[in-house]
Amino acid sequence: GPGRCRSAALGCGAGPGAAASSMKFLLVFDFDHTIVDENSDTWIVKCAPGKRLPHGLRNSYQPGHWTEYMGRVFVYLGDSGVKEEEMRRTMTTIPFTAGMGDLLRFIGENKELFDCIIVSDSNTVFIDWILKAADFHKVFDEVFTNPAAFSSTGYLTVQNFHAHHCPKCPKNLCKRKVLKEFLDKQLERGVSYTQVVYIGDGGNDLCPVMSLKKNDIAMPRHGYTLEKRISQLSQDHSPVECSVLVWSTAVEIASYLKLRIKE
Ligand SMILES: [Mg+2]
Ligand SMILES: [Zn+2]
Repeated sequence: GPGRCRSAALGCGAGPGAAASSMKFLLVFDFDHTIVDENSDTWIVKCAPGKRLPHGLRNSYQPGHWTEYMGRVFVYLGDSGVKEEEMRRTMTTIPFTAGMGDLLRFIGENKELFDCIIVSDSNTVFIDWILKAADFHKVFDEVFTNPAAFSSTGYLTVQNFHAHHCPKCPKNLCKRKVLKEFLDKQLERGVSYTQVVYIGDGGNDLCPVMSLKKNDIAMPRHGYTLEKRISQLSQDHSPVECSVLVWSTAVEIASYLKLRIKE
């Protein structure tokens, strides 16, 4: 049941009502193609002259080195005279995934039951702009993504989120490491979760999903890489340990959560 706790030492189920009051879910969201229905790093190209990047720049991406590539894109935009305000205006027109607005409002209204974080390979500036423009920033307890800022000369600069040793992940970000560090930190503060719910679409969401436990749930977006990678693991007879619920719109995610909190 939802009141079960993985750590008896934390006093879960200590008496009547204790289980219900300690029921807490951790919702982990990817950002691009999950919260928003586009890739924010691609959407920014709408600011470029002719809304496209020069060939050489477009072809300069090397697998696993996304932040360096985006750094070059931002230098190009700066050199082209694109200003912060124009970038902000463009980024805040990015569409949310179907049903996501209602889901985030539902989570916001039930914060006593849901802790909610974003782990994304986008950057702090884009995610801040988009969440604040839609008034969703208070829904999230923390956002883990590549730190970005405008330089004194008006250029957007982005850095790697961290360094890690995971061989499966791009050099700047291992989402599994982020999630593990977050859960460890919460446990130190006496917070353990009834269930971790991981919502994402991409190949870099597989590493954290593979670290989820039996009572947790992965929610891969239908038709995207994460869903394919998870079903490939099943076909290879090494399925993920957690439950899996495939979604097409955030309405399905909301339905699941509403059912869980009624238990
Ligand atoms: Mg994504
Ligand atoms: Zn990893």
